[in-house]
Amino acid sequence: MEKISLVIPCYNEEANIVYFHEETNKIFEKEKVKIEYVFINDGSYDGTLLEMKKLIRKNPEEDIKCLNFSRNFGKEAAIIAGLEASTGDYVSIIDADMQQNPKYVLKMYEFLKENSEYDSVACYQEKRRENKIIAIFKKWFYHIINRLSMVDYKENASDFRLLKRKVVDAIIKMQEYYRFSKGIFSYVGFETYYMPYEVEKRKYGKSKFSFIKLCKYAIDGIVSFSLVPLKIATFIGSISFIASLIYLIYIIIQKLTIGIEISGYATIVCLILFFGGIQLIILGIIGAYLGRVYIETKRRPKYILEGVYKTEKK
Ligand code: UDP
Ligand code: MG
Repeated sequence: MEKISLVIPCYNEEANIVYFHEETNKIFEKEKVKIEYVFINDGSYDGTLLEMKKLIRKNPEEDIKCLNFSRNFGKEAAIIAGLEASTGDYVSIIDADMQQNPKYVLKMYEFLKENSEYDSVACYQEKRRENKIIAIFKKWFYHIINRLSMVDYKENASDFRLLKRKVVDAIIKMQEYYRFSKGIFSYVGFETYYMPYEVEKRKYGKSKFSFIKLCKYAIDGIVSFSLVPLKIATFIGSISFIASLIYLIYIIIQKLTIGIEISGYATIVCLILFFGGIQLIILGIIGAYLGRVYIETKRRPKYILEGVYKTEKK
């Protein structure tokens, strides 16, 4: 029988674990496919780990694993840890909060069975069901990142996917520290089908992604898969060089014809502030890349496991 692994990053999701497991089992009860649960406890400070251990104790005949991180390493680290630990022929990345209904995993699986030319399915939201302002920012983000990046992004596509084993193996080979899954999925290629889905309400608890966290994530995404911001310096430099040449010629002609009285205080102050500002911004951009190079060269582990807990499978 084929096996689907569910990779479930969990950060303070104590109330959702049991519910998620029950609902998923209901959906797959009659299907001819095995389910492997790979929960990742991403340094939760509530009872998430306890709930996972309980689940393992109560369902010894099932295939349940819990990777317990030594602290919070973030969802991206949880995803790669889960992919590395998964053993299924298919792997789905899915949130613990039931916003991504597990019934779509079955739908994606059925699609891949029927359409063997595809290697992965990604769910995307036709309608965004969230805060209007965040939705607008996300739209801008896709617009910008698609223009800048070396990979393509499907707007509103989520991390909620079902991948064939070969895709998972390709993703695992990408061992960068700063991980931006949407870019990585796109980078590894393979035929991907985009399936519309409806995001549901979070079952229990609160969202873990604040606006600031989303902004940082967006910057990670751009820096990870684009070198265009680095070229902005060259672009601005060239423009101002040409402008200054024209101005130089103008000043020389002025000097030779009507002469120059001492003036231009405002012009000089404006120019100093303007170019000072631009230089600092560009230094910041270079710094964003440099900082990541620095961290990347240290080759630190992307996550550290406190332990792995699992059911004793026959
Ligand atoms: N998550 C995680 N580590 C983090 C933040 C979030 O593993 O540092 C998990 C979280 O438990 C959930 C999933 O990532 O299962 C998506 O997070 P959330 O629902 O808070 O994000 P949203 O749906 O609001 O984008
Ligand atoms: Mg959520």
